Amino acid sequence: MHRTLARPAFDVETVRKDFPILQGHVWCKPLVYLDNAATSQKPRAVLEAVDRYYREHNSNVHRGVHWLSGAATKDYEGARDKVRAWLNAAGREEIVFTRGTTESINLVARSFLRPRLKPGDEVLVTEMEHHSNIVPWQIVCGEAGAKLSVVPIDDRGELLFDEKLLTPRTRLFAFVHASNALGTLNPAKDLVRAARARGIPTLVDGAQAVPHMRVDVRDLGCDFYAFSGHKLFGPTGIGVLYGRKELLDAMPPYQGGGEMIRRVTFEKTTWNDIPYKFEAGTPDIAGAVGLGAALDYLGALDAEALHDHEATLLARATEALSAVRGLRILGTARRKVSLVTFDLEGVHPHDIGQILDQEGVAVRTGHHCAQPVMDRFGVPATARASFAFYNTLAEVDALVAALGKVRELFA
Ligand code: PMP
Repeated sequence: MHRTLARPAFDVETVRKDFPILQGHVWCKPLVYLDNAATSQKPRAVLEAVDRYYREHNSNVHRGVHWLSGAATKDYEGARDKVRAWLNAAGREEIVFTRGTTESINLVARSFLRPRLKPGDEVLVTEMEHHSNIVPWQIVCGEAGAKLSVVPIDDRGELLFDEKLLTPRTRLFAFVHASNALGTLNPAKDLVRAARARGIPTLVDGAQAVPHMRVDVRDLGCDFYAFSGHKLFGPTGIGVLYGRKELLDAMPPYQGGGEMIRRVTFEKTTWNDIPYKFEAGTPDIAGAVGLGAALDYLGALDAEALHDHEATLLARATEALSAVRGLRILGTARRKVSLVTFDLEGVHPHDIGQILDQEGVAVRTGHHCAQPVMDRFGVPATARASFAFYNTLAEVDALVAALGKVRELFA
């Protein structure tokens, strides 16, 4: 007799129980955490993995022959294997642990781009980049006499990509997969294809994409992919740079120190193999372990159901917020991750943030480290509600109700 294995339905209330902080209160109100794009909350599985690591395996990696060092190394390298599988990278040596997206991008700017840049060269970015995907390129361009060129965006917050922006002088195309300021989900595969057709390497800033979708770097075809553990329900202080093996192999080290060497003398030092060549010093072992636990946790959930749930949250928030008097949504792209950025006529975003906080609703206000986006829309700052799969429709309603209070106070 055959039994049909039904997919367990996604039950947000059950999932929420995995996140201790979500049971908390602020100002005597239940916490409504809608600042997930800044950093997401951590499930118990991550907290326990980090705790267990420190209680039972804490030791330094790679260098010791004793049992604990072996255990810590196994934990750390095991986390690398999990990231490799998660991204579908071809090899574990293509996964470099960093402090986060910012460090991953700086590593590529220094070690990959800087040695290749000549005066008059170009680096193509987009108008919707986070500062961490602008400034590192700007610094090395300044040193080399090269310049940034920019893919503009339209009023919806979609890219106005024109292949002519990829010129014979373009040495790299670096773009955000999903925008933290607008929510726009970019057609990463098409953009990579256009660049590859001209032999131009690509870096994709995946900080805001990975919390919302499975990313397959081989399917994308990009040369580099960067993300942070803390936005993916893992710890702060750990991040990932995926890089194609042949590029990483050819790149000089980013930082010098222990671990990244093969042989040191005062006359000459030779480098370790990748990825260790790029991991100078004692790494964030507990962070990697926690990130591995986050991937295990996410892997056990139904990705399609999560996606549908987030799409429902986004649709409800977009509809309800659009009905608030004087509220304008910035970023109305056709493909978005689940976040809504807005301003409210006559109210400074910081006032919005503070009043919402009194209602227990945590949103982000400011320029979201994307000042060129603010300039594009002619605002100094905005408010942003960003959702994770553990948010509920009731929380969207709580946001809308709290915005009603803002409206009343500023009537
Ligand atoms: N890129 C994007 C799109 C981001 O949203 C962020 C974080 N807000 C970063 C890069 C930088 O990430 P981190 O601060 O974790 O290095």
